[in-house]
Amino acid sequence: MRIKVLGAAAGGGFPQWNCGCPNCREARAGAPDALPLTQECVGISADGERWFLPNASPEIRSQIESYAPLHPRGPRHSPIAAVVLTNGDLDHTLGILSLRESHPLLIYATERVRQGFTENNVFYRTLMRFPGQVTWRDLVPGRESALDGADGSPTGLSIEAVPTPGKPPVHLEGLEESDPGENIGVLIRDRATGGCLAYFSAAGDITSPMRAALDRADCVFFDGTFWASDELIALGLGTKHAQDMAHLPVGGPDGSLSRLAGLRASRRVYIHINNTNPLLRSGSPERKQVEAGGWKVAQDGMEVSL
Ligand SMILES: [Zn+2]
Ligand SMILES: [Zn+2]
Repeated sequence: MRIKVLGAAAGGGFPQWNCGCPNCREARAGAPDALPLTQECVGISADGERWFLPNASPEIRSQIESYAPLHPRGPRHSPIAAVVLTNGDLDHTLGILSLRESHPLLIYATERVRQGFTENNVFYRTLMRFPGQVTWRDLVPGRESALDGADGSPTGLSIEAVPTPGKPPVHLEGLEESDPGENIGVLIRDRATGGCLAYFSAAGDITSPMRAALDRADCVFFDGTFWASDELIALGLGTKHAQDMAHLPVGGPDGSLSRLAGLRASRRVYIHINNTNPLLRSGSPERKQVEAGGWKVAQDGMEVSL
C-alpha cells in the first residue's frame, strides 16, 4: 500500500489567509522551519494505478496536479477511484464540488455524512447533471467491506469505519441530533499483504473501540490539529478549547502522544495540523518530543509505504 500526503494542514491551511500568528508570519516570510501546507487530503493505492482519497480538500485541484500518479491516462480519465469522507466538515468535502467536470464520482461515507452533504444543498445539483454522476457507498461502522472502484472492480483494499468522537460540521450545528456516523476513522487493509492503515484525522477522544482498531494497524495517521487544549486562547485567536472543536490535543498528560505511547504500529504520523501548532516548526521542543515518541509530522508530499 502506498500512502501519499497531498495536504497535511487542518482547515484554513498553513499559512491561513487571515492569520498573523507567529507560525503563519514565519511561513509567509519563507522560514525554512515553517513550510506551507495545504489542507488535509491523502492518496492511497494498492497497485499505484487506482487511488482513494480520504477527504477532498478545497485545494484538491492543485493537490492532484502536484502528483503525477493522479493525472489522467487518457483524454477523459482519472486514476481517482473513489473519495472516502471521514466527516462532513467543509475542509474535507468542498473539494468534491471542484470535481464537477462531468466525471463519474464514487464516494464512500456514512449515511449521516452523505445526508449532510446532499440534502438542502443547491450546490450539489452541479453533481447531478447526468444519471450516475455520483455514486455513494454507505460506510457502516464495524463492517469491513471491499474498497471497490467505480466500475465495481476490486482494488485490493478493504475499508472499515470506526465511530470516533466528533461533532457535526459548523454549517449543520443545531440542525440535527448527534449521530455516531458524523465522524469516523477508517481502517484500510491491503488484502494481499495484510498491511493495515488506521486513518483518524479528526478525533475528540480515544474510545476503547478506537484503541482496539488502532492496535490492529501497522501504520497510524492521527489527529494532530492542536498541541495544547488552550492553544487558540493563549494566542488570543479564539475562545474555544481544542476539545470544544472535537480535537484531542497532542501534548499534555491526557494528550494523544501520551495515550498512544504503547501502539503496535511502527509508523505513526500526525496529520491535520492547525497553523497555530508548534509541531509545524521543525526545530521546536514539541516536534522533538513527538519524534522521540516515534511519530512524524505530516508534510505535503510525504510518502509512506506499507
Ligand atoms: Zn478538518
Ligand atoms: Zn496562524
